[in-house]
Amino acid sequence: MDFTMSPEQELWKQTVREFADQELEPIARKIDEEWHRIPDEVIDKMADLGIFGITIPEEYGGCAVPGEEMQYAVTTIHELARGELSMSLPVYTLLCIGWSILMVDHATEEAKEEILPKVVTGEWFLGINTTEPGGGSDLANIKTVATKDTGDSWIINGEKAYISGVREATERGGGHATLFLTEPEKGYKGATFAYFPADAPGTSYTTYSDMGRMGLSTGGFVYKDVEIPKKYILGEENKGFYVNMEGFNVARAVVSAACLGGAEKCLEISADYTKQRVLFGRPLLNFEAISFEMVDDRAQLEMLKLMLQKGAWLIDQSRKDKSKVDFREINRTMAMCKCYAPEMGVRVARNGMMYHGGFGYTKDTPLEMSLRGTMSYLVGAEGGYHVMKIIMGRDWFGDEAVPYRGSQVGH
Ligand SMILES: Cc1cc2nc3c(=O)[nH]c(=O)nc-3n(C[C@H](O)[C@H](O)[C@H](O)COP(=O)(O)OP(=O)(O)OC[C@H]3O[C@@H](n4cnc5c(N)ncnc54)[C@H](O)[C@@H]3O)c2cc1C
Repeated sequence: MDFTMSPEQELWKQTVREFADQELEPIARKIDEEWHRIPDEVIDKMADLGIFGITIPEEYGGCAVPGEEMQYAVTTIHELARGELSMSLPVYTLLCIGWSILMVDHATEEAKEEILPKVVTGEWFLGINTTEPGGGSDLANIKTVATKDTGDSWIINGEKAYISGVREATERGGGHATLFLTEPEKGYKGATFAYFPADAPGTSYTTYSDMGRMGLSTGGFVYKDVEIPKKYILGEENKGFYVNMEGFNVARAVVSAACLGGAEKCLEISADYTKQRVLFGRPLLNFEAISFEMVDDRAQLEMLKLMLQKGAWLIDQSRKDKSKVDFREINRTMAMCKCYAPEMGVRVARNGMMYHGGFGYTKDTPLEMSLRGTMSYLVGAEGGYHVMKIIMGRDWFGDEAVPYRGSQVGH
């Protein structure tokens, strides 16, 4: 057992931290309030550093360290989130690098050669597209369907909802890994997973007015007779649900890393403030009602970090040799992380606002921005809070005790 980072991992962590401190922290508020997007120059700089290639092999232009992709991915997102507390940029990045892993493992060679190099350069966005207006938790009930099979392609009709990056994929280029039905009568066992280019004719999108994460769009896609070539399939026809679930575990890891990084930064901001704020003749931090709470939060973040490192390591091991890792251990570990990480992120930001008193309710601290951004992961994305508990319950009580086949819970 070894809990230390390799010198190369440590160097990468420092590189991303410096980038986050110097390039992201100064513009985070502008991303959230003024620009409502991530500037192209920032994406270009991230691409130059190699951030978008961190999970992609060299043959497609990336710089992945074989066998350590998830460990690097988690570190990258953790550090980026410390610098951009609105969560817009960490989420943009985690979607690209997280779903790239699935593409590396399950896309056709033709699709990998077309898409991955463009993700590495930051030119294209890559996201995930499962949720529909009928309910995100209950994926067995999706309605988006291949209404025709031409042999080389599917003709798709349907609608997706609450999808991150609808505008970015449409404007910049790129697309989303999408779950749809190829044999609707079989429910989730008739679902297929494929990359849908956002500019495929017949695709349109709308955007929602979110409460946070304002630099990254969330919206819905409508598909009207959209032709999707079969070269974009991920895995096999009618086996898409299982591939999708594999991707959710990766996504849950990087989402947890984003919540962890943001919370860590909020806690540091709170420590600095309470050390210098003097009340009743002494620093606020000297009151144990405050310092004990902060110590509790710090200890719990450390526990989360350890569990997340274990989860990332497990996924790396299973990608090297599936037979060596019990997938249930990955499911369980990632569900625990994704259940508690957003909850901790929101709590630490909220606690920080309390320590700042009236100042905490203003936009002169980034704490409220962090709270709004992290809430997105508490209510949804890659399975909501309750769905994670259902996964943990199934793991503990057994498959038969916990139904929900074909939901975000798994299969
Ligand atoms: C900002 C944002 C970005 C998102 N980005 C994406 C994206 O990029 N791609 C994508 O596919 N989706 C995305 N989503 C959607 C997200 O995955 C869903 O919101 C989430 O899966 C929940 O689905 P729902 O919103 O339809 O809620 P519902 O499924 O209607 O659930 C409502 C509530 O009930 C709870 N619940 C569900 N089942 C049970 C149960 N059996 N017992 C108890 N409680 C239960 C849920 O946890 C939730 O709190 C995003 C959501 C948000 C908020």
